Amino acid sequence: MNQTAILRRQSTGAPEAGFGARRFQVYTLRDLDRIAALSRMPDELHFEMKVVASVLPFRVNDYVIDSLIDWDKAPEDPVFQLSFPQKGMLDPADFDRMADLFHAGADAREIQAAAQEIRNHLNPHPADQLRLNVPLDENGERLEGLQHKYRETVLFFPSQGQTCHTYCSFCFRWAQFIGDKALRMASTEAAALHRYLRNHRGVTDLLVTGGDPMVMKARRLAAYLEPLLEPAFDHIQSIRIGTKALSFWPHRFVTDEDADELLRLLERLSGAGKHIALMAHYNHWRELDTDIAREAIRRLRSTGAEIRSQGPLLAHINDSGETWARLWQTQVKAGIIPYYMFVERDTGAHRYFEVPLAKAWRVYREAMQQVSGLGRTARGPSMSAGPGKVEIQGVTEINGEKVFVLRFIQSRNPDWVQRPFFARYDESATWLDQLRPALGEERFFFEDEYQAFCAERQGG
Ligand SMILES: *Cc1c(COP(=O)(O)O)cnc(C)c1O
Ligand code: SF4
Repeated sequence: MNQTAILRRQSTGAPEAGFGARRFQVYTLRDLDRIAALSRMPDELHFEMKVVASVLPFRVNDYVIDSLIDWDKAPEDPVFQLSFPQKGMLDPADFDRMADLFHAGADAREIQAAAQEIRNHLNPHPADQLRLNVPLDENGERLEGLQHKYRETVLFFPSQGQTCHTYCSFCFRWAQFIGDKALRMASTEAAALHRYLRNHRGVTDLLVTGGDPMVMKARRLAAYLEPLLEPAFDHIQSIRIGTKALSFWPHRFVTDEDADELLRLLERLSGAGKHIALMAHYNHWRELDTDIAREAIRRLRSTGAEIRSQGPLLAHINDSGETWARLWQTQVKAGIIPYYMFVERDTGAHRYFEVPLAKAWRVYREAMQQVSGLGRTARGPSMSAGPGKVEIQGVTEINGEKVFVLRFIQSRNPDWVQRPFFARYDESATWLDQLRPALGEERFFFEDEYQAFCAERQGG
């Protein structure tokens, strides 16, 4: 072990004094009445939360309740909005339908059936992920738990990582959390992952995602990741792990039983020459504003792993330039690299959180103007749509026509990347499928090819 590694080992040993172990305690719909902080809220609000949580997933832990939510400001408090169900998340007709069932004392089976019907209309798999991105093995069998959409990067959904320490109320992967097997995209198979990566030499990045892979034990994670140090995986340069644990349960990296074991795993991977990146999901600067959150970041960085941040722009939570500027400044100060600002996907509770693309761009621009170059590494606002990640570059006028300037940050066909294209300006559009080509064009340049691809996948 070289000198730096030894120093690192020492610095990631015992956490600094003052961080006692804390038991992870979680509340779901069943325990809503046991959350003491909620007792101050009106009965009407309790009822609304129950109605919404019978359709969309709900789970919150007591660190979020005790340390992140400002209860004096609830229900408007951004972290409350981010973790507790809100009436506006359901269409009014759907809400009334569920509320009527509750008032009429309907049984669990009836409530479940109605909830399921409503969920089916909430676009559980945006961007057609399951149909279009799951790769096939040598025998033409679907490799569940893998997605391979962009040439360089394979997504892996380990089955033990398909939950989170708290569920975001706007979660774009909510369908995985409601117990419907048909909607899951998880894999139990380390062998299948490794075989696929061995056979795809063009892949440079593995992105382990969920849910939150950091709900897994270090031992589990090691079984997936440690084999990647073998020479057969030399082409895998980077291992990214998507996580919201830095916000919802920073104890994972500080006081949990296997916190040190986890840090040592990251240290070994990065020491062996892989780029290890935690893709930290953040929505508000408040999530970074506790001692335990800062300590978790410090410890992670001492392993040689990078932390990059990403998260969606959301009404009721972070839809202002000031909030984003402060979020990025706080991140840069902590050594985190801002990576993506996403447009909230067209799924689940989208109706409550959506922000028009025109406003999203204004918020992005205002925030960018307030931070130094180190904070300007965040790209966006970006839509993860079927053809790829489309960024709104700006609004301008060309020959008297007001247009959005767009480009692919990432796309199914690498040739589409970085080609500017134009859509008619639309003040209220919230997603790519609502945009129309500008400047007299009939179709966007990628549309024919994308449709041919979809048709082929449908047939096959
Ligand atoms: C965002 C994303 C990736 C990673 O893309 P990068 O541009 O490399 O960050 C990979 N696969 C899918 C399906 C994605 O949505
Ligand atoms: S961290 Fe991600 S997967 Fe987990 S609840 Fe939030 S949005 Fe969903």
